[in-house]
Amino acid sequence: MRWDVIVVGGRVAGAATAMLLARAGMRVLCLERTRLGSDTLSTHALMRAGVLQLSRWGLLDAVAAAGVPPVHRVVFHYGGDATTVTLRPGAGVEALYAPRRTFLDALLSRTAVAAGARVEHGATVTSLLRGADGAVTGVRVRRRDGVRDEHAPLVVGADGLRSLVAAEVGAAVRWQGRAVARCTYGYVAVPAAGYEWYYDEGCGGGLIPTNDGLTCVFAASADAAAAADASADTDASADAGAATARRGARAGTPPGADPWAGTPLPPALADRVAGLPVVGRLRVTRGVPGFLRSAAGPGWALVGDAGAWKDPISTHGMTDALRDAELLARAVLAAPGPGAEQRESLAAYEMARDRLTLPILEATEPLAGFRWDLQEVQGLLRGLAAAMADEIDALLALDGAAV
Ligand SMILES: Cc1cc2nc3c(=O)[nH]c(=O)nc-3n(C[C@H](O)[C@H](O)[C@H](O)COP(=O)(O)OP(=O)(O)OC[C@H]3O[C@@H](n4cnc5c(N)ncnc54)[C@H](O)[C@@H]3O)c2cc1C
Repeated sequence: MRWDVIVVGGRVAGAATAMLLARAGMRVLCLERTRLGSDTLSTHALMRAGVLQLSRWGLLDAVAAAGVPPVHRVVFHYGGDATTVTLRPGAGVEALYAPRRTFLDALLSRTAVAAGARVEHGATVTSLLRGADGAVTGVRVRRRDGVRDEHAPLVVGADGLRSLVAAEVGAAVRWQGRAVARCTYGYVAVPAAGYEWYYDEGCGGGLIPTNDGLTCVFAASADAAAAADASADTDASADAGAATARRGARAGTPPGADPWAGTPLPPALADRVAGLPVVGRLRVTRGVPGFLRSAAGPGWALVGDAGAWKDPISTHGMTDALRDAELLARAVLAAPGPGAEQRESLAAYEMARDRLTLPILEATEPLAGFRWDLQEVQGLLRGLAAAMADEIDALLALDGAAV
């Protein structure tokens, strides 16, 4: 076998996993169907654990140097009231950051290459290869110059919420949410005091300062149409919704018209962005209910959205991906060869991931349902904050420096 590990998908989960394994000397092939530096459908807020990971991996200076503004405060707007929380520096995190995906994903991909991984963009995995015992032994890849098989005793699915790897191995769904929210986002040149989150009746939104002097504005509300699909057939609708989410309806605005017309925006946020031109176009995503899938089996493992998807209202998917990249890399390095020892190590990864992810999924579910009032939402956010504090503790408890 030429490769020790093949990683399918080369964004936050995949490129980070490839980087960590390559840094430890493994022969890693990472296959990503999109081009290097391409955008994806996502806003940008990293939580403390995500920034902690970038800091441990020596990448935070590059993020700051790229002009991503440091975030020292988080402002919570509940109707017309606002509460400001100042970030307490500690454990390598002096500020939060919200880099554009065009920058962050490319940074991780390039760092993986610098660490010795082979990262191929424009390479699409079309199916998995299996051994006589059914274990995954590699992938079939379509590249510009044709179709070829690549072999490795472990294939990591970091291929997002519509994961081909998860589908082909039949990864069991272990937790399934029902709440579905619609998200609309775009960029304006408005200063923000840090991350600013807005909550009002039936909707939420936020301001996220990002690269190039721009602020990402997002609005979220219950997605009635997707919810109706979800109650008909949750799994199928997750796939259909995901397709829509990945494509992203792109709304154009005639000159002079309000780009946010028809988007439920908290009134306080609507006031902030009123009259401001949107740079580029608004992106609209249809909701996908949260889920948690089994994380590993014979010859395969899942990381990032492929294994656990949560509604963007959590602003936590990238942070989870960066966290789990390290948990998975450590599990693989603890038992690099196929066999019982690796199965045990991957089972331990799954347990660690579930212990940290389930509370976040459960805290996100009612938030994404938008059936709360302004008192209730504060309690829900405290639940999410507690889950994130546990996550930081778990990462800090990992021995020594990052892999
Ligand atoms: C509207 C929206 C807003 C969001 N806002 C935030 C936020 O503010 N903060 C946050 O932390 N998270 C946010 N998220 C969630 C975040 O985008 C995801 O959690 C994150 O992208 C997961 O990273 P990943 O690497 O697991 O998957 P992805 O980023 O989806 O990457 C998977 C990659 O796999 C590739 N791939 C798939 N199949 C194949 C194949 N067969 N062969 C080769 N390559 C393949 C895809 O091209 C893709 O590039 C948001 C999501 C959405 C939809």
